[in-house]
Amino acid sequence: MKVQGLNVIDPIAHGEKVRERVYNNLTNQRLVRRLREGRSYNGSTTIDVIGCNMLCSYCYVDDSFLTGKPSPKNMLGKESKKGTVKPYTPRELANETKLFIEENKTPKRIQITAAEPFLTPEWTIDLIRELAPFIRKNKEHIWIDTNGLDIVKNPEILKKLEDYKDILRIFISSKNSPEHYAQMTRVDPKYEDTGFKCIDKLWDKEYSAYLQAIAALFFPETFEWYEQRLSKLHKAAPLLLDLDRLSYLPLDRIRSGLQSTGLWDIRQKDTKVEKAWQEFLEEHYGKEIERLFSVDFFEKDEALVRNLIFENKPIEECHLFKQS
Ligand code: SF4
Repeated sequence: MKVQGLNVIDPIAHGEKVRERVYNNLTNQRLVRRLREGRSYNGSTTIDVIGCNMLCSYCYVDDSFLTGKPSPKNMLGKESKKGTVKPYTPRELANETKLFIEENKTPKRIQITAAEPFLTPEWTIDLIRELAPFIRKNKEHIWIDTNGLDIVKNPEILKKLEDYKDILRIFISSKNSPEHYAQMTRVDPKYEDTGFKCIDKLWDKEYSAYLQAIAALFFPETFEWYEQRLSKLHKAAPLLLDLDRLSYLPLDRIRSGLQSTGLWDIRQKDTKVEKAWQEFLEEHYGKEIERLFSVDFFEKDEALVRNLIFENKPIEECHLFKQS
């Protein structure tokens, strides 16, 4: 199917094919690219899974890690040949992760990312269950990055995660406004509301969850659309949108992805967008803003969703506003 001259996928049908490639239901093993120390969320030990139902043009991983299709020339093929890509059951991966942390002295905070963790919901829930005692013992969290599609599609996921709400932090990509959605995701624009639907469900059940936009692809002409869409969720939601810097933007992979969908030439400067969004929020709330929300860099911000959204503390007292 073509939209705005671009080939786009249906992520549900595409995701089913990818799942068959990256997950073996006889052994309950999913392909994992690697364990590493990551910079996100104030530093974490990161599990990079393989396989996603989307094909975002700005994604920092090679398409082969998204589709699960190895070839001698692509990165999945090359890394599989080297033996670094391996299939794991949740228990095997939890044990390997704990060993990795012990041997490499990496943070006890764990991030599950790099593709779509909930592409295999049962496997990911089992992984969380296996990691939970270690995480609780160390008073840490598991951060999961998701595009939200499977959570929206399958309400059982949130029911099964209920017991782990205390240790879970879920980070959802909002992708983009309708006019740039297909360019950003290479997905049928009928799914453009997915990130917003997902956070609505998560906040409704009081999961600590955060919505993100990519600063370089967050266009000032779409601020109003975002503000209206976010305000429908909660009056504090515009204040809690997390702008992520595309610090990896110079990578060839990102450049060619964005060039292929026409986003490269219209990308924004992160700092310019942050300033513009801050000014927009100041007008929206009628208050001066000290700095923007960021769970990546400011640990204190992590409690804001619970304070403002679940406990309805007065928004005026939020530390992101300049206090007189
Ligand atoms: S949803 Fe995330 S992992 Fe999947 S393609 Fe998009 S950016 Fe990459």
